Amino acid sequence: MSEKSRRFPLPLEKVGKSPNAPARSVLMPQRHLREAALDAQRSAAPVGLGLDSAQVRARMVQRLRAEGLSDERVLDAFGHVPRHAFVDSALAIQAYEDTALPIGLGQTISKPSVVGRMLALLMQAQGARARGHLGKVLEIGTGCGYQAALLAQLGQAVVTVERLRLLYERALSNLEAIGMATRARLVFADGMLGHAPGAPYDSIVAAAGGEDIPSAWLEQLAPGGRLVAPMAVPGANTQVLVVIDHQSVGGASHFIRSEHEGVLFVPLKSGVV
Ligand code: SAH
Repeated sequence: MSEKSRRFPLPLEKVGKSPNAPARSVLMPQRHLREAALDAQRSAAPVGLGLDSAQVRARMVQRLRAEGLSDERVLDAFGHVPRHAFVDSALAIQAYEDTALPIGLGQTISKPSVVGRMLALLMQAQGARARGHLGKVLEIGTGCGYQAALLAQLGQAVVTVERLRLLYERALSNLEAIGMATRARLVFADGMLGHAPGAPYDSIVAAAGGEDIPSAWLEQLAPGGRLVAPMAVPGANTQVLVVIDHQSVGGASHFIRSEHEGVLFVPLKSGVV
């Protein structure tokens, strides 16, 4: 068998199903148009959502209120930040459901009701109540940047730290896309060390749960400040929300700790990737 004839069956087999295909597409040019229109519809979904997203977002705010979130400033922040701009366009349709969604590298954008609860806990701190806002804020775990955008609505200055470079960059472009990049300072670093250059912070919030509260966070918490973080329950495969208030009495620091409801956050990890 010659080289040529040995190879011949292969192309024939490949061509086997295709003789009709070119003919069909030549005879039905409108098919391309129809497909293009369908494609356009599919890719237009997030844009369409963008146009009426204020209404969808208002419904999410209503649901959060109905489920017990009562801090009007937190609700207002949820009403202003377009959550769909922080998730992949294929997931935009689910952006206003009360659910965590994947943002890449095994991480998630946190569930709105849990974010709302944490922000409300921060707003209830004595200092925040007196001030009327969160003051200087440190967020550990920027992820896609959504909570950082909410914090920017509620605080005076926001520093947010992310250990995964890809997410740090994604958060930066997400915030740029909605014109909020200047409202939070994004830092690519290990947040277990907090961010000493910006310390002390009036409010610290973590979006990832570790075995314990890193000592750097307590050192960087201003007197009168509050920290809210998920923390693993020793010996159990669960996490709880931990609140720590820094009280300063006669120059001595007291850290008052309380534990709240169970939550489920991605793990707090050390080092940068
Ligand atoms: N704040 C996000 C949630 C992000 S998920 C939101 O708005 O929904 C938690 C993030 O914490 C992940 O991106 C993860 O990479 C990050 N993370 C975990 N350990 C960290 C650490 N030590 N320092 C900084 N970021 C950390």
